[in-house]
Amino acid sequence: MALTNRQYDDLIHEYEVKQLARTHLIAERTQEVYEKVDGYKELDESLASLGPTYTKRLLSGEDSASAELHAQIQDIKDMKAHLLKGAGFPADYLNPPYECPDCKDTGFIGSEKCHCFRRKMLSILYSQSNIELLIKDQNFESLDRSYYKGEDLQLFDRAVRICHDFIENFDTKFQNLLFYGDVGVGKSFLSGCVAKELLEAGKSVIYFSANSLFRQLAQNAFDSKSKDVLYSFLEDLYNCDLVIVDDLGTELVNSFVKSEFFSFLTERNLRRKSTIISTNLTFEQITKEYSDRVFSRIYNSFETVKLTGDDIRLLKKSEL
Ligand SMILES: [Zn+2]
Repeated sequence: MALTNRQYDDLIHEYEVKQLARTHLIAERTQEVYEKVDGYKELDESLASLGPTYTKRLLSGEDSASAELHAQIQDIKDMKAHLLKGAGFPADYLNPPYECPDCKDTGFIGSEKCHCFRRKMLSILYSQSNIELLIKDQNFESLDRSYYKGEDLQLFDRAVRICHDFIENFDTKFQNLLFYGDVGVGKSFLSGCVAKELLEAGKSVIYFSANSLFRQLAQNAFDSKSKDVLYSFLEDLYNCDLVIVDDLGTELVNSFVKSEFFSFLTERNLRRKSTIISTNLTFEQITKEYSDRVFSRIYNSFETVKLTGDDIRLLKKSEL
């Protein structure tokens, strides 16, 4: 799956606008500092004149010139910082932080796309509007334990702890989660909570209902014209930091789905990329629907998180 030229250009443009806005901001602030801080402008000017002077000395073979130049630059920088601070400006006033320090808001590190750029591409590609809708209401702030009682509550609390661990250790520990239980017990809610936190930490997250995932795979696989499209779709699907497959078991299961699902799990595991699956199916049903090998792959590489309780969607409705 690839961006259209138009989408790609828009994205590049977005980065250009961001860089331009920063340049303008710095120019404005520099002007302000020149006006308010006595001597600052003069220091900048003397900094600018250092280069030509020293180049001449370097060219005429003065070996010490380079070290002297560096020392002098540092002196002037120190004096500038001192003046700025003395006038009550923050230290980074003329060097405001980048949104993404890794690529300095260019979208690229060398010729490679930065993680922030890839994340934006994914969000365009997989109409992350879906996920945005999901995480709007489903995040840890809106977590409500009052819908659970007794053993249901214990399971829910355990699940929340597991989610927090999952997020905290995301960079260092390869983990997969399987949320299983009846309809409306909070499985998608918890997936949404995790997605939100990780997206905010700059991770690439793709969210699919099982139905849409398998439909997309089938569409690409059976359309002979789109092998490249399939290839890049699979690349994203296998390499993205986190894939969430919601409501496994609601799709139509055929032999194609079974084998694709197995490949998907295998490839993600090989790459040590995390996956979260939620399902209403029991373990027996997963085995029956998808085969033993799919079940054992899930059972061996996923932490299973059981949730029970009343259907929260119905409870919420009855409160209205
Ligand atoms: Zn970046």
